[in-house]
Amino acid sequence: MKSDWKETERQAEQRRLMVERQIRARGVRDERVLEAMRTIPRHLFVPPALRPRAYEDSPLPTSEGQTISQPYIVAWMTDLLRLKGEEVVLEVGTGSGYQAAILTRLAAKVYTIERISALAESARTILSELGLDNVEVVVGDGTRGLPEHAPYKGIIVTAGGPRVPDVLVEQLDEGGRLVMPVGPSSLQMLTVVEKRGGRIFTEQKGSCVFVPLIGQHGWE
Ligand code: SAM
Repeated sequence: MKSDWKETERQAEQRRLMVERQIRARGVRDERVLEAMRTIPRHLFVPPALRPRAYEDSPLPTSEGQTISQPYIVAWMTDLLRLKGEEVVLEVGTGSGYQAAILTRLAAKVYTIERISALAESARTILSELGLDNVEVVVGDGTRGLPEHAPYKGIIVTAGGPRVPDVLVEQLDEGGRLVMPVGPSSLQMLTVVEKRGGRIFTEQKGSCVFVPLIGQHGWE
């Protein structure tokens, strides 16, 4: 990662406090996840007018009617993937590129897919400006996954869908974990699917609210 990006001392301090008060305090203890959240400059992924609010404990609007998720939710979902550093990971819903940037610090290779090409393009620009070179941004319907690079040890879906698409579970590697918000648009349940010994185990972790996952195996 390049180190010539700009921030004020206040932003650096706000990010440190974000990790301690919003993330560690809520139970995320994996030091690698906390370090990634401390390292990636979240303010660069939010629209310039909202930068003073980049380290608040809330999601923020981006462009095209989409959002950048609350920092704690990003850390929680990342933590649930239980990455060790060697994995190939797929993210569905690139949005601002912030979650993908976090994943680059924790996995060997990240593929991230976004259905809105303008968002994919701006995420690609910022990820490249930060020198994060183990991530590839693809435009398409992520409810179909990205079969050309499967299987994945981790799949993270950052939009809420009616069910976990079978095709994503098929693209999950043995020992791999998938994390996705599942349920109606008003409230979803953060769901973890694990593939072990060729069997599928599903667990519900808690409620959350995401923008809708729109596509062939999502909402219309
Ligand atoms: N991970 C993002 C970040 O770090 O900023 C936040 C994602 S935002 C909550 C959800 C994103 O999912 C939106 O950008 C939306 O366009 C995208 N999306 C919705 N349905 C999709 C689909 N079928 N394939 C790919 N992206 C999709």
